[in-house]
Parts: sequence; C-alpha cells; structure tokens
Amino acid sequence: MQISANKLLFISTPVGALGTGIGGGVELTLFNITKEMTRRGYKVEVIAPQGSVMQPFIVKEISGELQIPGQTQTRTSPITMPKNSVLANMWEYARQVQAEYDLIVNFAYDWLPFYLTPFFQIPIAHLISMASYTDAMDRIIEQVATKFPGTIGVHTQTQAATFQLEQECTCLLNGLDLSIYQFCVQPSHNLAWVGRITPEKGLEDAVAAAKIAGIPLKIFGVIQDETYWQNICQDYPTETIKYMGFLSTFELQKELSKCLGLLVTSRVVEAFGNVAIEALACGVPLIAYRRGGLTEIVQEGKTGFLVEPDSVPGLVDAISRLNEIDRYACRQQAEATYSLEAMGDRVEKWFKGILNR
Ligand code: UDP
Repeated sequence: MQISANKLLFISTPVGALGTGIGGGVELTLFNITKEMTRRGYKVEVIAPQGSVMQPFIVKEISGELQIPGQTQTRTSPITMPKNSVLANMWEYARQVQAEYDLIVNFAYDWLPFYLTPFFQIPIAHLISMASYTDAMDRIIEQVATKFPGTIGVHTQTQAATFQLEQECTCLLNGLDLSIYQFCVQPSHNLAWVGRITPEKGLEDAVAAAKIAGIPLKIFGVIQDETYWQNICQDYPTETIKYMGFLSTFELQKELSKCLGLLVTSRVVEAFGNVAIEALACGVPLIAYRRGGLTEIVQEGKTGFLVEPDSVPGLVDAISRLNEIDRYACRQQAEATYSLEAMGDRVEKWFKGILNR
C-alpha cells in the first residue's frame, strides 16, 4: 500500500471538548500526533466534541452529551451512554465518511469504538490512554486485541500489563514538540505539580511534602473537583500553595521550567504521564510515586527519584536530594526518547503495520 498519501481520521475523547483540559493528557497527545503525522505528509482529519479548539488544525465538531470519564468507574460498573451521546454521534459521522479514509484512530477510552470495530469497512487503531479500570472495558479490549492483532497501542508496558496484554499491544510512549519547551538553568525556589485537580491525582500529598520541605508549590491544571480543591486550600496556608490556573502549553512550560522539580503523586496506575515528559523537556527533575507509567519515565538518580507510593516522607526526602540531578540530563532524556520525531517513528510504524496487514 502507498503510505505517503494516507488519510487518517482521528476521533477524540468524548469526555470534553479539546482545549478545556478535561480530556487530560489525551488532548496534548492528539495534538502532537496530528502535528507530526501532518508534517510527514499524511492527511489528517480530527473529529471532537462541539466547542473543541486545536489550532492551527481544523476540528470537525460534533454535538451531543459528554461521556462520564473512565476514572470515575469501579471494576463492575456497567457501560452507560447518555441520551444524545457525543460518542455515538462522532462514530456515526465516522461511519458515514469512512470511505474517504485509510485508517481511523480512536483516542477514546470507551467501550463503543471497540465494539464497533468489526462493523467498519476500514481498519481502526485504538490508542488506549488509561490503565485497566473496569471489567467491561478489559473484556472488549481483549476481544479486539485478539480479533484485530496489532491494532492496540498503549503508552507503556506497565499500562499494557494491567490488561495482561503486554505481547499484543504496541508501546508508543509519547512525544512533544521540544522546540516549544525552554530549558532553564537557574530555577527559582518553587516546586511544581501539574494535572487535573481531582482526588486520584493525590495533590494533597504534594502539598504536604512541599510544606514540610518549606518550598512553595506551584499548581497548574483544571479544577475538576471543586470540593476536593477547597479542602486542600483550607488545610494549607497560602504561602505553601500557589494556584497558577490552567495554562496553554506555551505558558505552562515557561512557568514549569523555572521550578526545582515536578511532583507526580497519583494514587492510581497512570498509563504514562505527559506532565513528566514536559518537565524533562524543560530540564526539570521528577519526583514520582513508584507506580504506573512513571516507573518507565523516571531514570532513578539521573533524571529524578521514584518514591514509595503514598509516602509523604519519601517525597520530602527526594525533594532534599533534587540538587543531585543534572538538569541537562533531564532535557537530554526528552531529546533522546520523547521528541516528536521519535514518537512519530513509533506511531508511523504502528500505522503501517495495520495498513499493510
Ligand atoms: N496541562 C495543560 N495546562 C496546565 C496543566 C496541565 O495544558 O495548566 C496538560 C498537560 O500538558 C498534560 C495534561 O494537562 O498534557 C495532563 O495530562 P497527564 O497525562 O499528565 O494526565 P491525565 O490528565 O491524562 O490523567
């Protein structure tokens, strides 16, 4: 098959419009893969919920009610769909236009796109953005992995292991346009925490550790759970926490690059951790719980420290050792593994494998 003129249809997550931050790391991942595949000569169309903005790319906006995020589900949660589902509407649109494309790429962590896979005339690649959460999702992912070998992409081996599909999944890590991320040699006296502000991200541990260490913590991200956030604000003095808002990638890297280190304190198994590679790209060392995708990103003692999960004293100890990390080594790790080109090679190989099958 002739690859150069391939047309790709990217279907976004149905949990929020692109640009709102509710889609978490998927928003940046989708943007960067679109950017790199377009640069490589692919024709890419992006479908996303109404209100989405992903400049300079044009998005086909689809109306309908948003989907509940997968993180809110428990093991036995059934699959639910709202009455006028944006997820269903996006896939109905895809069904109608599929003849114009060579490959559909699904960015949603939802049951429906997996279920629909055998009913489409063109191949579908699924990029799974989270670890295993529900039995229903595990089952449908496993079925697609078996029936359509090679079509499932993940960010890390640790993530694939939560589905027991290490052999079946293609590991893509992630990548960034490193030219956007500035390196800062002389950081200010601040720590950073970046992410959706919601209980599973464990922000309270980062705040507690920053307070003990006596270093202010700059917090960046969408407040997804207002009550959770208010509780943290009540428990901690304003000199410890500085809420910086939800910033564009350009503004985020500018602020992040000036921080001593990034704390990643998730209570759950993260598939990857875009914020971690963004920090590395700015030369900012990582301190993360030894859990999920972060274990494949942090190079112990070289670009950061892995800490016993849920241990605030562990975080405090790692903070005291941040000066052992060479900030250039952090940037170098990003350049070697997480550039757009490196990610593009991995993703293109995955797409070609599916298209040639
Ligand atoms: N982010 C952002 N601006 C902010 C804070 C966060 O654009 O002020 C983005 C960040 O670049 C990253 C995403 O939010 O891409 C968080 O993604 P991550 O993979 O770390 O976690 P997720 O939300 O997917 O669980």
